[in-house]
Amino acid sequence: MISRYISGRDPASGRSLRIGVEDGEIRSLDSGPADESAWLSPGFIDLQVNGYGGWDLNADTVDADVVSALARKLLATGVTTFLPTIITASEEQIVKALRAVARARQTDSLVAHAVPFVHVEGPHISAEDGARGAHPREHVRPPDLPEFERWQAASGNLVGMVTVSPHWENAAEYISALAAKGIVVAIGHTHATPAQIHQAADAGARLSTHLGNGVSGQLPRHPNLIWAQLADDRLTATFIADGHHLPADTLKVMLRAKGVERSILISDAVAPAGMAPGTYHTSIGGRVELRADGRLSMMDTGFLAGAGRPLKDGIAQAAGSHVCTLGDAIRMATENPGRFVGNRGVLRPGARADLVRFTLDAEEGGMRILSVMIEGVEWPA
Ligand SMILES: [Zn+2]
Repeated sequence: MISRYISGRDPASGRSLRIGVEDGEIRSLDSGPADESAWLSPGFIDLQVNGYGGWDLNADTVDADVVSALARKLLATGVTTFLPTIITASEEQIVKALRAVARARQTDSLVAHAVPFVHVEGPHISAEDGARGAHPREHVRPPDLPEFERWQAASGNLVGMVTVSPHWENAAEYISALAAKGIVVAIGHTHATPAQIHQAADAGARLSTHLGNGVSGQLPRHPNLIWAQLADDRLTATFIADGHHLPADTLKVMLRAKGVERSILISDAVAPAGMAPGTYHTSIGGRVELRADGRLSMMDTGFLAGAGRPLKDGIAQAAGSHVCTLGDAIRMATENPGRFVGNRGVLRPGARADLVRFTLDAEEGGMRILSVMIEGVEWPA
């Protein structure tokens, strides 16, 4: 018994599809109406969300209600799975944010569906300017396995991804210990040498966090840590495709070097993302300015302070600036990140019915979301 059908064009093939849904799962896939104009894809999967629509996971006021409100704001942008991302902070603050997410998963079924685990970005990153990005220097510290165990104890093992810089002396040991527990380890915010990059992959690191950002503005032309990460096929790279973090030429060439199959688009959105242009105070970067084109920067230094646009805008930006096809952009925002969160993000019988219908629309940041379904339930329910 199939309780409902949804149709739309497949961004990869351009063909019209009709998907049958029952009990929260995709049950059938066949041809849809020939005159279908909307696109239909798996719900978007964002491995890096610090906040959105005014809700801030890294503020000291974070609680379960913030996580619930954030999940709803993101769902309206087509994101059906996301990793709440907690940046470099005191251990007390990291634990507080972890507990807020854990509580939201217990009390809110939408959060339980949308959040498989948490991404802790830091605090074992580079303290150097440029590489550190907008992370607070005073809380940068070396890898500490007992601290990781305390995060897990406080949150019911909710940390599933950690971004670390491999320049630390004990980085390889830390990475292999986490990888052995099934934690996804990413390389990021680093000034590591190419040798240290490859040693991190030897130890079990599988991702590069926002490759090309969170790195010194002055690098030797070669060798350097960007080439090393592009060349190492054990590493899948995430990229911020908001049009500000990476110039279109750079992103295009990085995608060709990495291959679409080893590339992922993320938003790296922070609390002011999705808000009206203006100045805001945030936990990441302090006083920041959000421009109408989505560029978000720190008022004092002009450095980027996270991203001001949702993942849907990044998909449209990449496809619209001819960096890649729409089909490839969708794959990099669904199936590819889905491999790191329990194989979500695919259209096949038996998969979760997390689906989004959309059209491309310049007035809506590049993409207009028509409807979103999460585990077979149309949202808002
Ligand atoms: Zn970052």
